[in-house]
Amino acid sequence: MKVLQIMVLCLCLHSLSGATAPKICACALKPTLLINFASKDTCMIWPGACLEVSHLNSPSWVHVVRNGKIMQGWRKSFQIKLCQHQQSCPKIITRKEWGALKPKARTPLSTPVKYAVIHHSDTPKCHSKMKCIERVRSIQEYHMHHNHWSDIGYNFLIGSDGNVYEGRGSDTVGAHTKFYNSQSIGICVIGNYSSSRPNWPSLIALKRLLSCLKNNKKLKNDYSLKGHRDLSPTKCPGKYLYNNITHWPHYKY
Ligand SMILES: [Zn+2]
Repeated sequence: MKVLQIMVLCLCLHSLSGATAPKICACALKPTLLINFASKDTCMIWPGACLEVSHLNSPSWVHVVRNGKIMQGWRKSFQIKLCQHQQSCPKIITRKEWGALKPKARTPLSTPVKYAVIHHSDTPKCHSKMKCIERVRSIQEYHMHHNHWSDIGYNFLIGSDGNVYEGRGSDTVGAHTKFYNSQSIGICVIGNYSSSRPNWPSLIALKRLLSCLKNNKKLKNDYSLKGHRDLSPTKCPGKYLYNNITHWPHYKY
């Protein structure tokens, strides 16, 4: 019980009639990511959301990631029984909604692809839908008019407002990682993560988008999660975002 309180989970213990193990309800007080390294499964618990957990004997079976850090020290471990949020796709702000310019050309992406590549925009963050729309438009403007690309380079973008913004989407080849565009989906978290940490809403949105792309067969079941710096000589996606994703189950160097 004490350990769980440190994990910012509130517990309610009930006896389950007819069951051998007691039923344990865990409610998150703030967004909390649970990772099961044994099954490579993850799930995000939202504030107020409850899940059912049960005791297991092997230690260190579940880790909790909070504020970008893995919180170790579980004396006992728990099995996640209920995690409906993992299944649901995040809301995606469409190109029409953010007022995208028409692409000059499109190359179809053959899915499912092998890689998800994470980027940062190396721009200030945006914390409201209005500001993020402004930012996404200016990134598209820069990519099309300065870089002379056919469209915004990324397949998706994520704001600190917790929204996902459709870039080229999951059916069009992006322009974000040289030599890997036709076998990857590029996701840009708006902000500069060499100098600041990504916030929770953006990390939750990123996790949910990755699950959604896998569930919808846009990413292979055994896809590799990469930071841009793993594939090109760049600091992208910044050390703070990079240090985060390297703890995620699909991450492969
Ligand atoms: Zn990048």
